[in-house]
Amino acid sequence: MSGAPLLHIDDLWVRYRTATREIPAVQGVSFDLYRGGSIGLAGESGCGKSTLANAILRLLPKETEVDGRIELEGEDVLAMKPGRLRAVRWTSASIVFQGALHALNPVQRISKQIAEPMLLHRTETSKGAAIRRVRDLLEKVGLPGDRADSYPHQLSGGQRQRVLIAMALACDPHLLIADEPTTALDVMVQAQVLTLLADLRREHGLSMLFITHDLSVLTDVCDELLVMYAGRVVEEGPAHELFRSARHPYTRALAAAFPTIGDPSSRMRPSGLPGDPPDPAHLPDGCAFHPRCALAIDACRIDRPELRVAAPGRRAACVLVEEPVR
Ligand code: ADP
Repeated sequence: MSGAPLLHIDDLWVRYRTATREIPAVQGVSFDLYRGGSIGLAGESGCGKSTLANAILRLLPKETEVDGRIELEGEDVLAMKPGRLRAVRWTSASIVFQGALHALNPVQRISKQIAEPMLLHRTETSKGAAIRRVRDLLEKVGLPGDRADSYPHQLSGGQRQRVLIAMALACDPHLLIADEPTTALDVMVQAQVLTLLADLRREHGLSMLFITHDLSVLTDVCDELLVMYAGRVVEEGPAHELFRSARHPYTRALAAAFPTIGDPSSRMRPSGLPGDPPDPAHLPDGCAFHPRCALAIDACRIDRPELRVAAPGRRAACVLVEEPVR
């Protein structure tokens, strides 16, 4: 890729502080996302994906410590003043969360909720223009414009998720961060929302950071994948290659664990992965994945492997990965 990245993350660390302990939820993550590109963040629950996504727009609890560098369109996000940050959250990058029911105000018509960021951050927008744009946005996400007058409870789960996407697009951001946007939806609606996101990306050149625990979903909408385990990236590379021929045993287990959309037989496949990811505050010595890894050898219990080149354009953090001969 050439030119400056839209989003540049360098050696990012995020530590939650509670009364009794410190939880290093993200541990030294680096990556670049270029304009029009789409990166998928995969990994089981608790691996640090949402923490990373929220750190990008500084949506973390106050007492959280964030170190490293986050640059959005060349601007240092960690140095932004509150006013600038509020504007950037809608106009440069916006987030779609999962669980649309909780993200929408139940006693406000959706037209008002979608228009609000436009009226706040695009002060040149008149009320009439905002209402017209709400209808356009709803149509863009596949909902009839007259749904603008509905309250959230009058819409289905899939429709509410579309409303959240419309809201995120209100101020024409260049980056859309989607955190498990399809997890609460049934498979048919999930496929529709994924198609919608892929269309928006193609038609509007939107860049996307897409987060889910379901690797098969990511290969449909992303060019590149980052697989996270215990706060670190353990494998990265082109999405389809990674899904088909994972180098890290954790990615392999993830790829086998989830159903492929449209392939009923794959729903029955057992994951074969025992246990849960470790508590980031108490990582085992060596590779954090070794206690669950069927291929672990003595070296895995001693050294924590760094990411290294596994093939052109691909890196994995596993001692068993052989570097290609140059
Ligand atoms: P994921 O998105 O991959 O499910 P999260 O980023 O939500 O992972 O969580 C990563 C780790 O940070 C987990 O151990 C989780 O318990 C911890 N964590 C998340 N949010 C908080 C918080 N507000 N305070 C303390 N710990 C948190």
